[in-house]
Amino acid sequence: MNIHEHQAKEILKKFGAPVSKGVVILSIEDINKEITKLNSKKFVLKAQIHAGGRGKAGGVKVIKSISDLESEAKKMMGKILITHQTGPEGKEVKRLYIEEASDISKEFYLSCLIDRETSKIAFISSTEGGMDIEKVASETPDKIITNKIDLSDEGPSTKEIKKIISIFQLNEKQKNIASRLIKSLYEIIIKKDAILIEINPLIITATGELVCLDAKMNFDDNAIFRRPEILALRDLNEEDPAEFEASKFDLAYIKLNGSIGCMVNGAGLAMATMDIIKLYGKEPANFLDVGGGATKEKVAAAFKLILSDKNVKGILINIFGGIMRCDVLAQGVLDAAKEINLTVPLVVRLAGTNFKEGKEILDKSNIKILSASDLNDAAKKIVETIK
Ligand code: ADP
Ligand code: MG
Repeated sequence: MNIHEHQAKEILKKFGAPVSKGVVILSIEDINKEITKLNSKKFVLKAQIHAGGRGKAGGVKVIKSISDLESEAKKMMGKILITHQTGPEGKEVKRLYIEEASDISKEFYLSCLIDRETSKIAFISSTEGGMDIEKVASETPDKIITNKIDLSDEGPSTKEIKKIISIFQLNEKQKNIASRLIKSLYEIIIKKDAILIEINPLIITATGELVCLDAKMNFDDNAIFRRPEILALRDLNEEDPAEFEASKFDLAYIKLNGSIGCMVNGAGLAMATMDIIKLYGKEPANFLDVGGGATKEKVAAAFKLILSDKNVKGILINIFGGIMRCDVLAQGVLDAAKEINLTVPLVVRLAGTNFKEGKEILDKSNIKILSASDLNDAAKKIVETIK
């Protein structure tokens, strides 16, 4: 789960990291009241969307005089921001962060993430802050250092911290603040189940202060249940409605751009199904894993999700009954099909537990379903049917 910059900065502040003062506004009317909480003359207006690259897209604006604030906020609020991270459809700006402006002398990059490969916590630091870190990594890899540290109750050692921040070439005072920051990031990873924290840029101001000027945080969905305070930060405006609907039923659903909807159990089988659709010359409309012990209701919800995508011209259901029984799936398909007016062809391939009972349920129904003997046959049938 992602959160907004202003929320991430709030967490950073609680953990002792240096951030600027700022206020968040959800409507233009709030500006006058909120702005009194800040005591700067220069501000930066920042669009709050779950995507980076706002600076280049007009989502970060320096306001030199308070009299310009309202008119600039009006321009930004409600705007569709298209950045390299939003996709071509962009994202609508529904909240703004007004932050005290800093005089920037240097911009660095610092991030902390879980490195699954080594089961360690990785810190990535670079002198090239404020820009696309992927670009820095490919063009000037010597300007990035990665330090991986072991999980421990004490967190990163003095020696490890020294290595992480060495690239920044800080003075003694700045080193102390940076050390504290490294510890804070580590603590947030552990205590809040964050999986990624990215500070880009981490700056040094004209007066030598170290400040986290941007913050991105990502949390482990599987641990959210034990972090209600993090879940409370969820902003549904930022989520794909279909993917949100899917999460309510504990379905793994990712929308894609093709025309064949897939309902499958198990991620591996879903990948194989998508591959074979491509092999027959079509594209999958989605990835959808209904999981192991799917109930009738869950299957019905999955079915509706697929059909909510207007690009879907046909559906391929490919279920291997292990824990999931094929008859349960068949009943779910029928129930959902009764509710929705099924106008696209449906091919079903069932194998495993109770597949005979499942096939019988489908065969007896008056809904037009093509049954397939194996995956190859199923993919061929759905592709031919929609041609
Ligand atoms: P994004 O990464 O989405 O483009 P950032 O928050 O990193 O957004 O802002 C982009 C750039 O805007 C920063 O690299 C920095 O140069 C400038 N900036 C952001 N916040 C401030 C601020 N409070 N004061 C001065 N400059 C800022
Ligand atoms: Mg940034």
